[in-house]
Amino acid sequence: MSNIYFDNAATTQIDQSVIDIMSSVMNNNYGNPNSTHSFGRSSRTLIEKARKTIAKEFNVLPSEIFFTSCGTESDNLILVSAVKDLGVKRIVTSEIEHKAVLNVVKFLQLTESIKVEFVKVNQNGLIDYDDLNKVLNKTSLKTIVSLMHVNNEIGSVLDLVKTGGICKKHNALFHSDTVQSIGKYRFNLSELNIDFIVGSAHKFHGPKGIGFVYVNKKLKLNPQIIGGNQERGLRAGTESVHNICGMEWAFIQSYQSFDENKKYILDLKTYFIQKISGSIPLSKFNGSCDNNNDSTFSILNICLPVSKDKSVLLEFNLDLKGIACSRGSACQSGSSTGSHVLNSILSESDLKKPSLRFSFSKYNNKNEIDIVVEVLSDFVNSN
Ligand code: PLP
Repeated sequence: MSNIYFDNAATTQIDQSVIDIMSSVMNNNYGNPNSTHSFGRSSRTLIEKARKTIAKEFNVLPSEIFFTSCGTESDNLILVSAVKDLGVKRIVTSEIEHKAVLNVVKFLQLTESIKVEFVKVNQNGLIDYDDLNKVLNKTSLKTIVSLMHVNNEIGSVLDLVKTGGICKKHNALFHSDTVQSIGKYRFNLSELNIDFIVGSAHKFHGPKGIGFVYVNKKLKLNPQIIGGNQERGLRAGTESVHNICGMEWAFIQSYQSFDENKKYILDLKTYFIQKISGSIPLSKFNGSCDNNNDSTFSILNICLPVSKDKSVLLEFNLDLKGIACSRGSACQSGSSTGSHVLNSILSESDLKKPSLRFSFSKYNNKNEIDIVVEVLSDFVNSN
Protein backbone atom coordinates (compact mmCIF):
# COMPACT_ATOMS: atom_id res chain seq x y z
CA MET A 1 0.00 0.00 0.00
CA SER A 2 1.25 3.51 -0.76
CA ASN A 3 1.51 6.28 1.76
CA ILE A 4 0.72 9.37 -0.25
CA TYR A 5 -0.40 12.58 1.42
CA PHE A 6 -2.05 15.11 -0.87
CA ASP A 7 -4.16 16.86 1.77
CA ASN A 8 -1.85 19.71 2.68
CA ALA A 9 -4.60 22.32 2.66
CA ALA A 10 -6.20 20.41 5.55
CA THR A 11 -2.95 20.24 7.46
CA THR A 12 0.74 19.70 6.78
CA GLN A 13 3.40 17.35 8.01
CA ILE A 14 5.29 19.04 10.82
CA ASP A 15 8.98 19.61 9.99
CA GLN A 16 11.40 17.53 12.07
CA SER A 17 13.42 20.69 12.85
CA VAL A 18 10.21 22.25 14.25
CA ILE A 19 9.70 19.24 16.51
CA ASP A 20 13.33 19.53 17.65
CA ILE A 21 12.94 23.20 18.55
CA MET A 22 9.67 22.56 20.36
CA SER A 23 11.08 19.71 22.34
CA SER A 24 14.10 21.79 23.32
CA VAL A 25 11.81 24.62 24.47
CA MET A 26 9.65 22.18 26.43
CA ASN A 27 12.74 20.79 28.11
CA ASN A 28 14.55 24.01 28.78
CA ASN A 29 12.07 26.88 28.79
CA TYR A 30 9.21 25.75 30.95
CA GLY A 31 8.96 28.97 32.96
CA ASN A 32 5.67 30.82 32.79
CA PRO A 33 6.38 33.77 30.48
CA ASN A 34 4.41 36.00 32.84
CA SER A 35 6.64 35.23 35.82
CA THR A 36 9.26 37.80 36.62
CA HIS A 37 12.01 35.35 37.64
CA SER A 38 14.72 34.21 35.23
CA PHE A 39 12.76 31.09 34.13
CA GLY A 40 9.81 33.26 33.18
CA ARG A 41 11.99 35.88 31.56
CA SER A 42 13.66 33.33 29.28
CA SER A 43 10.25 32.15 28.05
CA ARG A 44 9.11 35.75 27.56
CA THR A 45 12.23 36.48 25.50
CA LEU A 46 11.40 33.57 23.16
CA ILE A 47 7.82 34.72 22.68
CA GLU A 48 8.79 38.30 21.90
CA LYS A 49 11.46 37.09 19.48
CA ALA A 50 8.82 35.05 17.63
CA ARG A 51 6.51 38.05 17.50
CA LYS A 52 9.33 40.16 16.02
CA THR A 53 10.11 37.50 13.40
CA ILE A 54 6.53 37.49 12.12
CA ALA A 55 6.16 41.27 12.30
CA LYS A 56 9.42 41.82 10.39
CA GLU A 57 8.35 39.57 7.51
CA PHE A 58 5.09 41.52 7.16
CA ASN A 59 6.74 44.92 7.71
CA VAL A 60 4.56 45.78 10.70
CA LEU A 61 5.17 46.44 14.38
CA PRO A 62 5.58 43.49 16.77
CA SER A 63 2.77 45.05 18.83
CA GLU A 64 0.42 44.44 15.90
CA ILE A 65 0.87 40.64 16.11
CA PHE A 66 -1.09 38.63 18.69
CA PHE A 67 -0.85 34.89 19.30
CA THR A 68 -3.99 32.77 19.33
CA SER A 69 -4.73 29.04 19.25
CA CYS A 70 -5.62 28.70 15.55
CA GLY A 71 -7.05 30.29 12.43
CA THR A 72 -10.62 29.80 13.60
CA GLU A 73 -10.01 31.64 16.85
CA SER A 74 -8.30 34.46 14.96
CA ASP A 75 -11.23 34.88 12.54
CA ASN A 76 -13.68 34.82 15.46
CA LEU A 77 -11.70 37.39 17.40
CA ILE A 78 -11.60 39.83 14.51
CA LEU A 79 -15.20 39.58 13.38
CA VAL A 80 -16.77 39.54 16.84
CA SER A 81 -14.58 42.40 18.03
CA ALA A 82 -15.20 44.42 14.90
CA VAL A 83 -18.89 44.34 15.75
CA LYS A 84 -18.64 44.70 19.52
CA ASP A 85 -15.74 47.14 19.76
CA LEU A 86 -15.42 48.97 16.46
CA GLY A 87 -19.07 49.73 15.81
CA VAL A 88 -19.38 47.61 12.67
CA LYS A 89 -23.02 47.27 11.58
CA ARG A 90 -22.57 45.47 8.27
CA ILE A 91 -20.39 42.57 7.11
CA VAL A 92 -19.65 42.11 3.41
CA THR A 93 -18.33 38.67 2.60
CA SER A 94 -18.74 35.84 0.05
CA GLU A 95 -20.51 32.49 -0.04
CA ILE A 96 -17.20 30.68 -0.54
CA GLU A 97 -15.46 31.72 2.69
CA HIS A 98 -14.28 29.11 5.18
CA LYS A 99 -16.80 28.18 7.90
CA ALA A 100 -14.50 29.90 10.41
CA VAL A 101 -15.78 33.12 8.83
CA LEU A 102 -19.19 32.14 7.45
CA ASN A 103 -20.54 30.71 10.69
CA VAL A 104 -19.28 33.65 12.75
CA VAL A 105 -20.97 36.00 10.31
CA LYS A 106 -24.23 34.02 10.65
CA PHE A 107 -23.88 34.12 14.43
CA LEU A 108 -23.39 37.90 14.43
CA GLN A 109 -26.33 38.34 12.08
CA LEU A 110 -28.52 36.43 14.54
CA THR A 111 -27.26 37.75 17.83
CA GLU A 112 -26.24 41.33 16.99
CA SER A 113 -28.64 42.06 14.10
CA ILE A 114 -25.72 42.79 11.83
CA LYS A 115 -26.55 43.34 8.18
CA VAL A 116 -24.81 40.77 6.00
CA GLU A 117 -24.23 41.06 2.27
CA PHE A 118 -22.62 38.55 -0.07
CA VAL A 119 -20.55 39.82 -2.92
CA LYS A 120 -20.87 37.97 -6.26
CA VAL A 121 -18.38 35.25 -7.10
CA ASN A 122 -17.94 33.98 -10.68
CA GLN A 123 -17.84 30.33 -11.76
CA ASN A 124 -14.08 30.27 -11.22
CA GLY A 125 -14.44 31.32 -7.59
CA LEU A 126 -13.19 34.84 -8.22
CA ILE A 127 -14.71 37.86 -6.53
CA ASP A 128 -16.58 40.32 -8.73
CA TYR A 129 -14.83 43.59 -7.85
CA ASP A 130 -17.49 45.73 -9.56
CA ASP A 131 -20.09 44.09 -7.38
CA LEU A 132 -17.95 44.71 -4.29
CA ASN A 133 -17.85 48.38 -5.25
CA LYS A 134 -21.61 48.41 -5.77
CA VAL A 135 -22.38 46.67 -2.48
CA LEU A 136 -20.09 49.01 -0.56
CA ASN A 137 -21.68 52.01 -2.21
CA LYS A 138 -25.17 51.07 -1.02
CA THR A 139 -25.13 52.45 2.51
CA SER A 140 -22.92 54.38 4.85
CA LEU A 141 -23.29 51.78 7.62
CA LYS A 142 -19.95 51.05 9.28
CA THR A 143 -18.71 47.98 7.36
CA ILE A 144 -16.10 45.27 7.52
CA VAL A 145 -15.24 43.36 4.34
CA SER A 146 -14.16 39.79 5.07
CA LEU A 147 -12.76 38.01 2.00
CA MET A 148 -10.27 35.20 2.05
CA HIS A 149 -6.97 35.48 0.19
CA VAL A 150 -6.63 31.87 -1.03
CA ASN A 151 -9.70 29.67 -1.11
CA ASN A 152 -8.98 26.44 0.75
CA GLU A 153 -11.08 24.24 -1.56
CA ILE A 154 -10.48 25.55 -5.05
CA GLY A 155 -7.38 27.70 -4.59
CA SER A 156 -8.81 30.85 -6.17
CA VAL A 157 -6.83 33.95 -5.22
CA LEU A 158 -8.17 37.35 -4.16
CA ASP A 159 -6.38 40.46 -5.39
CA LEU A 160 -5.48 42.00 -2.05
CA VAL A 161 -4.23 45.27 -3.53
CA LYS A 162 -7.43 45.82 -5.50
CA THR A 163 -9.72 44.76 -2.66
CA GLY A 164 -7.82 46.90 -0.16
CA GLY A 165 -8.15 49.87 -2.50
CA ILE A 166 -11.90 49.39 -2.86
CA CYS A 167 -12.32 49.07 0.92
CA LYS A 168 -10.30 52.23 1.45
CA LYS A 169 -12.37 54.15 -1.08
CA HIS A 170 -15.53 53.20 0.81
CA ASN A 171 -14.02 53.61 4.26
CA ALA A 172 -14.64 49.95 5.11
CA LEU A 173 -12.45 47.81 7.34
CA PHE A 174 -10.78 44.89 5.53
CA HIS A 175 -10.18 41.44 7.03
CA SER A 176 -8.60 38.75 4.89
CA ASP A 177 -8.51 35.14 6.02
CA THR A 178 -4.94 34.34 4.97
CA VAL A 179 -4.75 30.91 6.63
CA GLN A 180 -3.97 29.19 3.32
CA SER A 181 -1.45 31.76 2.16
CA ILE A 182 0.86 32.40 5.12
CA GLY A 183 4.26 30.97 4.21
CA LYS A 184 3.25 30.81 0.54
CA TYR A 185 2.80 34.51 -0.25
CA ARG A 186 4.74 37.55 0.82
CA PHE A 187 2.80 40.38 2.45
CA ASN A 188 4.03 43.92 2.88
CA LEU A 189 1.25 45.01 5.19
CA SER A 190 2.57 48.55 5.42
CA GLU A 191 1.76 49.00 1.75
CA LEU A 192 -1.42 46.94 1.55
CA ASN A 193 -4.64 48.41 2.84
CA ILE A 194 -5.53 45.50 5.13
CA ASP A 195 -6.62 45.83 8.74
CA PHE A 196 -6.53 42.19 9.79
CA ILE A 197 -4.91 38.97 8.58
CA VAL A 198 -4.68 35.59 10.29
CA GLY A 199 -2.33 32.61 10.32
CA SER A 200 -2.35 29.03 11.55
CA ALA A 201 0.94 27.17 12.02
CA HIS A 202 -0.28 23.70 11.06
CA LYS A 203 -0.85 24.88 7.50
CA PHE A 204 2.86 25.67 7.02
CA HIS A 205 4.56 22.64 8.60
CA GLY A 206 4.22 23.95 12.15
CA PRO A 207 2.34 22.57 15.15
CA LYS A 208 -1.42 22.42 15.62
CA GLY A 209 -3.01 24.59 18.28
CA ILE A 210 -1.20 27.85 17.51
CA GLY A 211 -1.98 30.77 15.25
CA PHE A 212 -1.76 34.51 15.13
CA VAL A 213 -3.62 37.59 14.12
CA TYR A 214 -2.36 40.89 12.75
CA VAL A 215 -4.38 43.87 13.93
CA ASN A 216 -3.65 47.28 12.46
CA LYS A 217 -2.35 49.49 15.27
CA LYS A 218 -5.08 52.08 14.68
CA LEU A 219 -7.73 49.60 15.84
CA LYS A 220 -8.34 48.69 19.45
CA LEU A 221 -10.02 45.35 20.02
CA ASN A 222 -11.21 43.80 23.28
CA PRO A 223 -10.58 40.17 24.24
CA GLN A 224 -12.96 37.29 23.61
CA ILE A 225 -11.10 35.16 26.13
CA ILE A 226 -11.12 37.04 29.39
CA GLY A 227 -8.74 36.57 32.27
CA GLY A 228 -5.13 37.69 32.70
CA ASN A 229 -3.42 40.42 30.78
CA GLN A 230 -1.56 38.19 28.31
CA GLU A 231 -1.09 39.34 24.72
CA ARG A 232 -1.38 42.92 25.92
CA GLY A 233 -4.87 42.25 27.17
CA LEU A 234 -6.25 40.90 23.88
CA ARG A 235 -6.13 37.20 24.73
CA ALA A 236 -5.96 35.85 28.25
CA GLY A 237 -4.29 32.55 29.06
CA THR A 238 -0.69 31.47 29.60
CA GLU A 239 1.06 31.52 26.26
CA SER A 240 2.01 28.19 24.68
CA VAL A 241 5.72 28.89 24.49
CA HIS A 242 6.78 25.70 22.67
CA ASN A 243 3.98 26.11 20.11
CA ILE A 244 4.87 29.75 19.51
CA CYS A 245 8.54 28.82 19.01
CA GLY A 246 7.54 25.93 16.73
CA MET A 247 5.37 28.27 14.69
CA GLU A 248 8.20 30.82 14.48
CA TRP A 249 10.63 28.22 13.18
CA ALA A 250 8.12 26.84 10.64
CA PHE A 251 7.44 30.42 9.54
CA ILE A 252 11.17 31.16 9.14
CA GLN A 253 11.67 27.95 7.16
CA SER A 254 8.76 28.75 4.83
CA TYR A 255 10.03 32.20 3.99
CA GLN A 256 13.69 31.18 3.79
CA SER A 257 12.86 28.59 1.13
CA PHE A 258 10.01 30.62 -0.32
CA ASP A 259 11.04 30.82 -4.01
CA GLU A 260 12.44 27.30 -4.08
CA ASN A 261 9.29 25.77 -2.50
CA LYS A 262 6.96 27.75 -4.69
CA LYS A 263 8.75 26.68 -7.85
CA TYR A 264 8.89 23.04 -6.73
CA ILE A 265 5.22 22.87 -5.72
CA LEU A 266 3.98 24.71 -8.80
CA ASP A 267 5.92 22.25 -10.92
CA LEU A 268 4.14 19.36 -9.14
CA LYS A 269 0.77 20.96 -9.75
CA THR A 270 1.54 21.58 -13.42
CA TYR A 271 2.69 17.98 -13.80
CA PHE A 272 -0.50 16.71 -12.12
CA ILE A 273 -2.62 18.79 -14.51
CA GLN A 274 -0.74 17.45 -17.55
CA LYS A 275 -1.00 13.84 -16.38
CA ILE A 276 -4.70 14.08 -15.54
CA SER A 277 -5.53 15.86 -18.79
CA GLY A 278 -3.68 13.14 -20.71
CA SER A 279 -5.16 10.16 -18.84
CA ILE A 280 -8.68 11.41 -18.09
CA PRO A 281 -9.45 13.96 -20.83
CA LEU A 282 -13.03 14.47 -19.66
CA SER A 283 -11.97 15.68 -16.20
CA LYS A 284 -12.32 19.38 -15.37
CA PHE A 285 -10.43 21.65 -13.02
CA ASN A 286 -12.73 23.45 -10.63
CA GLY A 287 -12.21 27.14 -9.93
CA SER A 288 -9.78 27.73 -12.74
CA CYS A 289 -7.17 25.59 -11.00
CA ASP A 290 -5.32 25.25 -14.29
CA ASN A 291 -4.75 28.97 -14.63
CA ASN A 292 -1.79 30.12 -12.55
CA ASN A 293 -2.87 33.74 -12.41
CA ASP A 294 -6.17 33.10 -10.69
CA SER A 295 -5.22 30.07 -8.68
CA THR A 296 -2.72 29.24 -5.99
CA PHE A 297 0.17 26.87 -6.77
CA SER A 298 -0.59 24.33 -4.06
CA ILE A 299 -4.25 23.39 -4.62
CA LEU A 300 -5.85 21.44 -7.46
CA ASN A 301 -9.55 20.62 -7.39
CA ILE A 302 -10.64 18.11 -10.02
CA CYS A 303 -14.12 17.16 -11.17
CA LEU A 304 -14.02 13.60 -12.48
CA PRO A 305 -16.25 12.11 -15.19
CA VAL A 306 -17.72 9.47 -12.93
CA SER A 307 -21.37 8.55 -12.50
CA LYS A 308 -23.14 9.31 -9.25
CA ASP A 309 -23.51 5.63 -8.33
CA LYS A 310 -19.88 4.83 -8.88
CA SER A 311 -18.55 7.95 -7.18
CA VAL A 312 -19.42 6.66 -3.69
CA LEU A 313 -16.62 4.15 -4.07
CA LEU A 314 -14.00 6.66 -5.13
CA GLU A 315 -12.89 7.92 -1.75
CA PHE A 316 -12.94 4.42 -0.33
CA ASN A 317 -10.81 3.24 -3.23
CA LEU A 318 -8.20 5.95 -2.74
CA ASP A 319 -8.07 5.41 1.00
CA LEU A 320 -7.66 1.68 0.52
CA LYS A 321 -4.60 2.41 -1.61
CA GLY A 322 -3.11 4.73 1.03
CA ILE A 323 -3.81 7.95 -0.85
CA ALA A 324 -5.02 10.94 1.13
CA CYS A 325 -6.80 13.80 -0.56
CA SER A 326 -9.98 15.63 0.22
CA ARG A 327 -13.47 15.17 -1.08
CA GLY A 328 -14.31 18.69 -2.16
CA SER A 329 -17.43 17.30 -3.63
CA ALA A 330 -20.93 18.55 -3.47
CA CYS A 331 -24.25 16.83 -3.04
CA GLN A 332 -24.24 13.22 -3.94
CA SER A 333 -27.90 12.77 -3.27
CA GLY A 334 -29.24 15.99 -4.72
CA SER A 335 -29.56 17.46 -1.22
CA SER A 336 -27.98 20.75 -0.35
CA THR A 337 -25.20 19.20 1.70
CA GLY A 338 -21.65 18.84 0.43
CA SER A 339 -19.17 21.58 -0.28
CA HIS A 340 -20.72 25.04 0.03
CA VAL A 341 -17.91 26.32 -2.18
CA LEU A 342 -18.58 23.92 -5.06
CA ASN A 343 -22.31 24.40 -4.62
CA SER A 344 -21.74 28.12 -5.27
CA ILE A 345 -19.69 27.78 -8.43
CA LEU A 346 -20.45 24.52 -10.25
CA SER A 347 -23.22 23.69 -12.69
CA GLU A 348 -25.94 21.19 -11.72
CA SER A 349 -24.40 18.51 -13.92
CA ASP A 350 -20.88 18.94 -12.51
CA LEU A 351 -22.24 18.88 -8.98
CA LYS A 352 -23.46 15.35 -9.63
CA LYS A 353 -19.92 14.20 -10.35
CA PRO A 354 -17.27 13.67 -7.68
CA SER A 355 -14.68 16.38 -7.14
CA LEU A 356 -11.42 15.82 -5.33
CA ARG A 357 -9.03 18.35 -3.85
CA PHE A 358 -5.33 17.55 -4.08
CA SER A 359 -3.11 19.92 -2.14
CA PHE A 360 0.65 19.75 -2.37
CA SER A 361 3.67 20.45 -0.22
CA LYS A 362 7.46 20.33 -0.44
CA TYR A 363 7.27 16.73 0.79
CA ASN A 364 5.43 15.47 -2.33
CA ASN A 365 7.04 14.24 -5.54
CA LYS A 366 6.17 13.34 -9.14
CA ASN A 367 6.30 9.63 -8.50
CA GLU A 368 3.38 10.01 -6.10
CA ILE A 369 1.49 11.89 -8.79
CA ASP A 370 2.11 9.07 -11.28
CA ILE A 371 0.66 6.57 -8.81
CA VAL A 372 -2.41 8.69 -8.02
CA VAL A 373 -3.20 9.46 -11.65
CA GLU A 374 -2.95 5.77 -12.51
CA VAL A 375 -5.33 4.87 -9.66
CA LEU A 376 -7.77 7.58 -10.73
CA SER A 377 -7.59 6.64 -14.37
CA ASP A 378 -8.16 2.93 -13.58
CA PHE A 379 -11.13 3.89 -11.45
CA VAL A 380 -12.67 6.17 -14.08
CA ASN A 381 -12.17 3.62 -16.85
CA SER A 382 -13.42 0.60 -14.89
CA ASN A 383 -16.99 -0.56 -15.47
N1 PLP B 1 -9.54 29.58 7.21
C1 PLP B 1 -9.15 28.82 6.19
C2 PLP B 1 -9.12 29.39 4.83
C3 PLP B 1 -8.78 27.49 6.40
O1 PLP B 1 -8.39 26.73 5.37
C4 PLP B 1 -8.82 26.97 7.71
C5 PLP B 1 -8.50 25.56 7.96
O2 PLP B 1 -8.72 24.69 7.12
C6 PLP B 1 -9.22 27.82 8.76
C7 PLP B 1 -9.57 29.11 8.48
C8 PLP B 1 -9.25 27.34 10.15
O3 PLP B 1 -7.94 27.22 10.65
P1 PLP B 1 -7.63 26.33 11.94
O4 PLP B 1 -7.65 24.91 11.50
O5 PLP B 1 -6.27 26.76 12.37
O6 PLP B 1 -8.67 26.65 12.94
